This record gives sequence, C-alpha cells and structure tokens, in this order.
Amino acid sequence: MTNKYMYFIANWKMFGGKNSLNSLDKVIKFFKSFKKKNFIKIIYCPPNTLINPMSHKLKNTRIFVGSQNCHENEKSGPFTGFVNSAMLKDAGAKYVILGHSEVRQSGDSNKLINQKIKSATKSGLSVIFCIGETIQEKRKRMTKKVLDQQIKIGLRKIGNRKNILIAYEPVWAIGSGIIPKPSDLFQTINFIKKKVKNIKVLYGGSVSSKNIDQLNSINNIDGYLIGGASQDSKKFIDIIKKTYN
Ligand code: PEP
Repeated sequence: MTNKYMYFIANWKMFGGKNSLNSLDKVIKFFKSFKKKNFIKIIYCPPNTLINPMSHKLKNTRIFVGSQNCHENEKSGPFTGFVNSAMLKDAGAKYVILGHSEVRQSGDSNKLINQKIKSATKSGLSVIFCIGETIQEKRKRMTKKVLDQQIKIGLRKIGNRKNILIAYEPVWAIGSGIIPKPSDLFQTINFIKKKVKNIKVLYGGSVSSKNIDQLNSINNIDGYLIGGASQDSKKFIDIIKKTYN
C-alpha cells in the first residue's frame, strides 16, 4: 500500500483491435469513482492502429494514450512503414514508450533510442524510457554497467528531462512471471535515481495482482509498466486498487 503519486502504464504490445476498446469502459468507470484518482496517472499504450479511436474514447477522462515506439525523424519523409512522433501526437498520443527491450531486440541501439527521445520531446510527447539488463548480463553482474550505458547514451544531450520517465524493466522479468528480489529492486531503482536526478522511475516486468503487494512494499518505485496484465481490465484495476488499499 502507498500514498504516493503513481503511474500505471498499460503496454498492449501487438494485441488488440477495435473491439478491445470496449474493455476500457470498466476502467473509465472505476477511475471516475476512485477516491485516490488524484494520486494516479493511467496511460494506455495500444498498437498505433488504436491510438486515434482510443484517444477519442478517453477524451475528458484524464486517462491518457501513448504509443510503443516512433521513428527518430520528427519530420515527415520517405520512410516506408514508419510513423514519427509528430504523427502520433496528431493522432492523439501524449506519451511514447522508447527503448522497450522487444524493440531493442529488433535492432534499436542506445544511440538510436537517444535520437528517438529527442524527436519525441521536440514533438511534445512525454517519453517512457525503458532500460534493463538481460539474464546473461545479470549473471555476469553487469546490471549497473548496462544501465549506466543505456542511461548515459539514451539521455545524451537532453538537458530538459522534465517530460521523461524511466521504466526499469529487467529483460528476464518481462513476460516470465518472475520479478526481482525486493532488496535488489530497491537498490537498482536507487542506483538509477542517483544517476538521473529528479526523475520518476517505474518498474516493469510481470507485474500482476498477485505480486503487487510485494512490489508496493518497495517504497522508491513511482509506478508500473504493465504488459500482459493490462490487457485484462479487471486485473489492471486490481493492481491499482491493491496499490492504495
Ligand atoms: C512490458 O511489456 O513492458 C511488460 C512489462 O510486460 P509484462 O508485464 O507482460 O511482463
């Protein structure tokens, strides 16, 4: 349980079509009557195909919409198959997830992520900047070194970090049902907060209504990036309720 301001970010990954917007009804209703609603920020990051209809559906609800990636060039151009930050903003997005491990795995380097963050902030999007080590790196005790590099290069020459949140997502925890030991997680979040002053740090990786009490006992986490459990409104609402009960 906490009394802190917390972010709850839903990453729908490559799931969902028009019909899945109906599942938001429950969340809108819950949020409207939730006593602690001034303590929380809910952000939905659906596939790009749903950004515009979702932003219409969530109009005036104070629940926000984000994308899961963008091109590094905020100006339009001959880049077949890509969408840039200005287009996402135009479609109704306020946020964008950058550096997610599933995108890093398909080739995004720290340098490219840095360019994307710059482009997104220029277009007026807030950024959820994901960092995290692989299981091999963890076994080699390289977690801090990896995070240090991801932060150093990812945030290079970005003086204004006001609209950037960091999501610490150990790659081995994503979709695995495993979460870090609370003491390790506390230390890692602290490490990140020392590297980047005045930044909010969220945790992501197998967050569920079953482990949320344990995660909430770690008092330096500023919110959660939630994949699988966010596609089920009841599970998503349970996570929020348990955080404040
Ligand atoms: C994610 O995709 O960012 C994520 C944390 O997924 P999951 O909650 O399913 O592990």
